[in-house]
Amino acid sequence: MPGVNKAQRIALKLLGSAGEEAEEEARSWFLVCPECGHEISYFEAGGLRLGPPSEGRRMRIRCDRCQARVTHDLVHRPEEPGDVSADRPSG
Ligand SMILES: [Zn+2]
Repeated sequence: MPGVNKAQRIALKLLGSAGEEAEEEARSWFLVCPECGHEISYFEAGGLRLGPPSEGRRMRIRCDRCQARVTHDLVHRPEEPGDVSADRPSG
């Protein structure tokens, strides 16, 4: 039986990985509410449909916390590398 051919598999794999990358990127961007400071990730705000995020971009959405429909600033906050910079005994 034929099943999925090689070309299709490769296409699926490529799309899958590209989708994951876009999602990861979108998750490192946040929309900040000017009214209450509440933050929501670009991904949660449905940013994947609106195209790639960029510094200085603004989006008019409704804040989850204060319900104000205002223009949110888009800020980039890549994930911290972790406990790399923690205090370590030297010597
Ligand atoms: Zn708010």
